[in-house]
Amino acid sequence: MNLEKLSEILKNEPKFRYAQINKALFQDYISVWSEASSLPKILRERLTAECSLEIKAQIFKTAGGRKSEKALITLADGEIIETVLIRQRGEKTEKAETAEKSTGRNTICVSSQAGCPLGCAFCATGMNGFSRNLTAEEITEQVIFWARRLKAEGKGEKIDNIVFMGMGEPFLNYAEFIKAVKFLNNPETMNIGARRLSVSTVGLTEGIKRLAGEKIQINLALSLHAPNDTLRRELIPVAKKYPLREIFKAIDNYISRTGRRVMMEYLMIKGVNDSDKNALELADLMKNPLYMVNLIPYNATGKFKPADRERIAAFKKILEDEGVPTTVRLSFGTEIAAACGQLRGKRKGYV
Ligand code: SAH
Ligand code: SF4
Repeated sequence: MNLEKLSEILKNEPKFRYAQINKALFQDYISVWSEASSLPKILRERLTAECSLEIKAQIFKTAGGRKSEKALITLADGEIIETVLIRQRGEKTEKAETAEKSTGRNTICVSSQAGCPLGCAFCATGMNGFSRNLTAEEITEQVIFWARRLKAEGKGEKIDNIVFMGMGEPFLNYAEFIKAVKFLNNPETMNIGARRLSVSTVGLTEGIKRLAGEKIQINLALSLHAPNDTLRRELIPVAKKYPLREIFKAIDNYISRTGRRVMMEYLMIKGVNDSDKNALELADLMKNPLYMVNLIPYNATGKFKPADRERIAAFKKILEDEGVPTTVRLSFGTEIAAACGQLRGKRKGYV
């Protein structure tokens, strides 16, 4: 998409054109200007010539059922980023109004950078290096891409959640990240409620502090992955700059200002961070009743192996016996390498 010239083109148009265009682009999710039937033909033609709506992407999907789909989007300068549509299966709940109505949820995972400079040992994105920050438009474009796809399916499916858990560290690109969040949340553009937006950070305290000061309160997740600084520094190089004590101070401040729960993400890596001792140590850290633990089955990307299913269950039990609310993330789309940065890596021949 290239909307750079949009405001110049609309300069001499009546004010209500903005509202018409916002609706067409960000609520009706048109993919060519000719679909914007509320606009005069001559304007549509000019927009077609000067503001491309095309999003260049290649989709990878798993066979059958409601499964994840992943897209590699090629940006104007040739950079490739990835974004995932996670189609969680619906559960039969009393809330389901009719049998036909889908109770599944659609979560979109977006990238905030092309690559990531932080080089975590377990992460495919980190291993493949860093190219550049994304602009807010490039971040929102990922959501628009999936919104168009859901619309084209014609089943009335909507976006339920958006998570900043794709490639990159959002707090290293704070200005564009928050601009994208505000755009997604704005009732005049995408109108996606703040409670449906989540950001994950590896623990950059400046970012956590800035987020606590924003008017818009989205969900916060911390990529914890280790219950002590020594192990954490082996897995996450930038942890040397951010001790757990400082991170939890920033998180507790975030919680006291916002009253929101914070999700602690913990990858389960075989023989590295998955012992009973690790679980007890983690439980000790989980002092605040608003902390929750989410155990993530590790997607093998190189030197580490995933923890066994039984080990994850035992680890979860220890945490729960210690009174820590714990969930296990459904491992989505392993077949299409749906974890952080893996597809892009494959394309470049790294993985
Ligand atoms: N940089 C931020 C945001 C990216 S989130 C952060 O690290 O929090 C990316 C998520 O994918 C993180 O929780 C990360 O731990 C997880 N991840 C990375 N490599 C993975 C792998 N091989 N298998 C499963 N999850 C992985
Ligand atoms: Fe970057 Fe997050 Fe991957 Fe670490 S886990 S390299 S911070 S994207």
